[in-house]
Amino acid sequence: FLIGLGVLFWGISFLFSYFMSKRAIAPIRESFLRQREFVDNASHELRTPLAILKSSLDVFEIEEEDRLTGVSKKVMAHMKDEVRRMTRLIGDLLTLARSDSEQQSLKVESFDVVPVICDIQEALEVLAKEKAIELTVKMPTSIQIDGDRERLKQLFYILLDNALKYTPEGGRVTMVASVQTKEKKQWSVFRVQDTGVGIANEEQARIFDRFYRVNKNRSRQMGGTGLGLSIAKWIVEAHQGEIKVTSELQKGTTFVIMLPTRLER
Ligand code: ADP
Repeated sequence: FLIGLGVLFWGISFLFSYFMSKRAIAPIRESFLRQREFVDNASHELRTPLAILKSSLDVFEIEEEDRLTGVSKKVMAHMKDEVRRMTRLIGDLLTLARSDSEQQSLKVESFDVVPVICDIQEALEVLAKEKAIELTVKMPTSIQIDGDRERLKQLFYILLDNALKYTPEGGRVTMVASVQTKEKKQWSVFRVQDTGVGIANEEQARIFDRFYRVNKNRSRQMGGTGLGLSIAKWIVEAHQGEIKVTSELQKGTTFVIMLPTRLER
């Protein structure tokens, strides 16, 4: 009888605390959802005026080309840079707001990731040449993977672009991709290594936080928004993968990404 009474009492107290915690969490959850919706709407609303501003600046530049002096040319270039930066920032904010509200579902397909990485290498070759950085990619001829092609492209772009941004002239950026088996599961492993400025130990955990930048001025000058790595982390986790960083100041940084070749649905 006593055991029965104990079980009944435990059951009642469990149900009571379960419903109370649900009730207590509901308003917090609601305000969180409202905040996400606000960011989503605000980003959407800001896109249109920015697009108009960009095309107006383009038209103005073409029409007034002969009359623009040295100073106004500089002002013009500055305005275009800022419009570009803000457009990227808004795009990044929208991606994150949608990922929070789980509106951003992955468009999963089975595809070869090797040509995707080759495209990014080609696109970034110009930047690498400008800084005399040796950009090398080592991969097998094909890596078949389950995933969202566009999102994975964005992930590799963020990591390689950062590696080039934070590596001084004459440095090296290397990407190595391979397929490995761990715990009876097949993983695609991507290692992005640079010989750049490095990240101090105490900063390494924070670089995946939104808007966190080790050196705000340097990152701004490079055109950074401080959202790249938080997007990278979201993409990796949405693909049931892992992202890790190791780094040494003034020596360089390595990001290792492990993605399962087959997604569990
Ligand atoms: P940002 O737009 O500022 O580059 P990210 O979220 O991509 O934002 O990166 C956050 C911060 O992490 C950067 O501001 C930079 O300080 C640091 N960081 C990222 N990648 C590297 C790298 N390869 N080498 C050194 N520092 C890096």
